[in-house]
Amino acid sequence: MQFKDIVGQGEVKAKLIKSVKESRIAHAQLLAGQEGIGKLALAIAYAQYISCQNRGEDDSCGVCPSCYKFQKLIHPDLHFVFPVNETKKEGEDKGSRKGSDAHMQQWRETILEDPYVTESQWYSAIGIENKLGIINTGESSEVIKKISLKSFESEYKTMIIWLPERLHLSAANKLLKLIEEPPGKTVFIMVSESPNKIIGTILSRTQIIKVPPIAREAIADALTNRYGISPNKASDYSRVANGNFQKAIALALSDETSPYFVLFCDLMRASFSNNILMLLDWVNRVSKLGRENQKELISYSLRIIRESFMLNLGLEDIVYIAGEEIEFSKNFSPFINGDNILQVYSAFNLATEHISRNGNPQIVFTDMTMKLVKLINKL
Ligand SMILES: [Zn+2]
Repeated sequence: MQFKDIVGQGEVKAKLIKSVKESRIAHAQLLAGQEGIGKLALAIAYAQYISCQNRGEDDSCGVCPSCYKFQKLIHPDLHFVFPVNETKKEGEDKGSRKGSDAHMQQWRETILEDPYVTESQWYSAIGIENKLGIINTGESSEVIKKISLKSFESEYKTMIIWLPERLHLSAANKLLKLIEEPPGKTVFIMVSESPNKIIGTILSRTQIIKVPPIAREAIADALTNRYGISPNKASDYSRVANGNFQKAIALALSDETSPYFVLFCDLMRASFSNNILMLLDWVNRVSKLGRENQKELISYSLRIIRESFMLNLGLEDIVYIAGEEIEFSKNFSPFINGDNILQVYSAFNLATEHISRNGNPQIVFTDMTMKLVKLINKL
């Protein structure tokens, strides 16, 4: 995880980077703030920066052996503690690993996929949807053990404690002394959403860094650049998300059925039933949409056609649509095949070209639909 991968949070990044440059790395720090703003990502990027063998002015290098291991979350001097379900399953081996270590593989996969993971998403990932996880006393013993070891490869050992508010009271008490006086070159980074629920004796021993909600423009940019969301929509989502990147993504994805879905379905139904009246009616409706909407409709249609073609080829794994779009595409996919896909594409692309050049939409779309009818009924 590099700082550049993190959405917004320029000030916090600058503060963390400065502490490294000035060799003032506090041995116990707490990143506090609401859900979905990148606190855990910041903690990991910070640890990677501390450990990087070729640190840049404002980020880790991303390619040195240390960075390589950090980016897979497998660096031997990077440790994690996080809440898990500690109820013993029946017939569970007494000697089997417990606590965070037992879930480390799942943790790495989850964080690498989405460092903005929420507490409840994490519980779903480990199958305890309806319960709260906990960090138990046994975990504190593990922490003490790990911290007492010399670091393996880096100058510093980092212990990231995600959600210290889930520390069982006795577990928290057990860590007190270590957090107060850790062995040299050890950094505890706690990441908390409810610092008021952390016992005061721990809280008072940490340097608290308040992480604010992410700036709206930073979220909008990330939605556009990483997810291809149109700038207008991205700006809407970022406003509603209120600084929470996770929420912004959820909004964008839940709203994925495009307003063009119905128009596209109507066009395809009219085409494969060869219903000329329906097609003319469709042309009339679309002609009134305005040029920008017409172009968006075409690019949306091309996306669904591409996905339908993938379904036709049996490549469901690389199909990126869901809900009613995929239901429709499954039925529609037999009509799109290697024989007509290129011509279907070029019929749509030609329409875009003509619309961009101010062509008469009635003529452009009539021409396009007539071609489609031929291509789709070629079978
Ligand atoms: Zn590096």
